[in-house]
Amino acid sequence: MVIAVASGKGGTGKTTVSVNLASVIKGKVQLLDCDVEEPNADLFLKTRGHETEIVSLPVPELCESLCVNCCSCVEFCQFNALVSLAGKVVAFPELCHSCGGCIEICPNNALKETQKRIGTKSKSKSGNISLVQGVLDVSSPLVPPLIHSVKKELKQNQIVILDAPPGASCPLIATVNDADVIVLVTEPTPFGLNDLILIVDAIKPLGHPFGVVINRDNNIFKGVEEFCSKEKIPVLMKIPEDRKIAEAYSNGQIIVSVLTEYRERFRTLMEKIKELYNLRSCH
Ligand code: SF4
Ligand code: SF4
Repeated sequence: MVIAVASGKGGTGKTTVSVNLASVIKGKVQLLDCDVEEPNADLFLKTRGHETEIVSLPVPELCESLCVNCCSCVEFCQFNALVSLAGKVVAFPELCHSCGGCIEICPNNALKETQKRIGTKSKSKSGNISLVQGVLDVSSPLVPPLIHSVKKELKQNQIVILDAPPGASCPLIATVNDADVIVLVTEPTPFGLNDLILIVDAIKPLGHPFGVVINRDNNIFKGVEEFCSKEKIPVLMKIPEDRKIAEAYSNGQIIVSVLTEYRERFRTLMEKIKELYNLRSCH
């Protein structure tokens, strides 16, 4: 079962839910930190034995002496990664989506494949949890390709948790598109509700079952629960606004490790996720 944990904005407690969920699962569990611009699951898990590799993408490199400036490659590239400037072809590898088409169509073999580094991927362990973490290089805009690289490590024979990037755009979809169940983490505020509505709109077309975890619940703003009730979205868990949780968080501690009363609550969350998964299997 692949569980994606996502949120419409950063700072809602998405990683808190991911690491605590992973910590109450018996047996092997894999956590893929796909929040590659700001991965922080390891700040809580404190894993060991990091094996790190560079992640690169194939991009075209121009050999000016062979180029006859026919502009076929410029016309072919849909991503404006090749442009003609003052009669010369110029490549912008940061815009390249590595389709390889320009290299194929160049009539003079003036383009050859080269590798462009976009970030790193590391594998490590903490107890029964295997962590795979992607780290995007500063200034690289190529988030989805690095997420795809992290997801290549996904092992189907165990429970897998995907810690998705915040927001409701391409990096989110690249992470959750093939998940079995999606858990949306939000806060009970008008801002939280606004971002929840956006992310629900983004993931609904995927057709995956999903539910909501309300973090820092304070029983004041009821808009999130009213929205979930109206849209028939199950509220899977409410994590109360609790000073002890805030202290654990700021110390980089996993809630269920230091506040044992929350173990059962996260186990119940896991049971509700399994119920959603079984519903999916029935359809
Ligand atoms: S297709 Fe090849 S020859 Fe034509 S402009 Fe591009 S690189 Fe130059
Ligand atoms: S490989 Fe594809 S995306 Fe990249 S520059 Fe060539 S045509 Fe454009």
